[in-house]
Amino acid sequence: MRALLARGVGAPLGVEEVELPAPGPGEVRVDIRAAGVCHSDLSMVNGTLAAPYPLALGHEAAGVVVEVGADVTRVAPGAHVVLNWAPPCRSCWFCGHGEPWLCARLGSPAAARGRTAAGEPLHVTLGLGALAEQVVVGEEAVIGVPTELPFEAAALLGCAVLTGVGAVRRTARVAPGESVAVIGLGGVGLSVVGAARAAGAGRVLAVDVSPAKAELALAVGATDFLVADDTISRAVRERTDGRGVDHAFECVGRGSTIRTAWRAARRGGQVTVVGMGAKDDVVPLSALEIFHSARTLRSSVYGSSDPDRDLPELAHAVLDGSLDLAPLITDRTTLDGAAAAFARMARGEGARTVVVPRDTA
Ligand SMILES: [Zn+2]
Ligand SMILES: [Zn+2]
Repeated sequence: MRALLARGVGAPLGVEEVELPAPGPGEVRVDIRAAGVCHSDLSMVNGTLAAPYPLALGHEAAGVVVEVGADVTRVAPGAHVVLNWAPPCRSCWFCGHGEPWLCARLGSPAAARGRTAAGEPLHVTLGLGALAEQVVVGEEAVIGVPTELPFEAAALLGCAVLTGVGAVRRTARVAPGESVAVIGLGGVGLSVVGAARAAGAGRVLAVDVSPAKAELALAVGATDFLVADDTISRAVRERTDGRGVDHAFECVGRGSTIRTAWRAARRGGQVTVVGMGAKDDVVPLSALEIFHSARTLRSSVYGSSDPDRDLPELAHAVLDGSLDLAPLITDRTTLDGAAAAFARMARGEGARTVVVPRDTA
């Protein structure tokens, strides 16, 4: 079967034939029907995150279970599923304390699985490698969804939407009437904008370096769009009676934009870091401003969500029309077009590209 592979930092991405093992005990094979191109994959291609190569990319996807190994109880062949890139162990301290997104067993960016056509050991992103025709994963990494849920919406639930909605509802707990700024309008940032609006936020200020994002931002519920520049914190304060916003969300994963989000929040406000950045990218904060601003700075890992509980809820919200994901999908392509989608994302264009690996439609 075919998969999108990275062969090193900065090396061109290519679709290659690979071989996956048959599902072992507790494992399932999933035929991928739709997969999103997410920024975290780019981080493993451009060197922001260290990763082993060759690496099959992709961690935001949905498909159909086509084969199950021994002792599988969660799903049967034919089940429609969303892949979960952070399946919690349910037995560590964090899982036992209601924080499965911080599970102690999670955290490695790639797992060894299968081989390339040349026989090299293959690695798969976040245990998945979902920009591929198929994946073989542990059954704990699949979550059943209703068969009437379109695959492309289902795919986005697995990363961008669970992360964005969770950051608003579970990490920051945005309340009706509060003001929000969202820095960085990729798939996750736009999902944060939509969720903030749905949570009843008053002003939702959407910020991006690209003026081309204005239309998308307003379509998902932003009240204002601002082009990010050196004066952006001042522009945010001007729109919030000089105070700054109650909640600033950083959806880029960079020290400089975390600093921007920090300065955009009001005294006593909350800064939620949703983007994943590099370990040597430092955020300068002075001791005086930390004390004087009384702001809270924290991160939102996978939307502080329990995917087994929260993802089916989001699936139903899509089906009943209360969660519209259509504006998030700006491009559709096949596996052969996925490398170009990474290039678009690196240039900051569009929101989500959905890849349909087997273009049989
Ligand atoms: Zn992702
Ligand atoms: Zn755990």
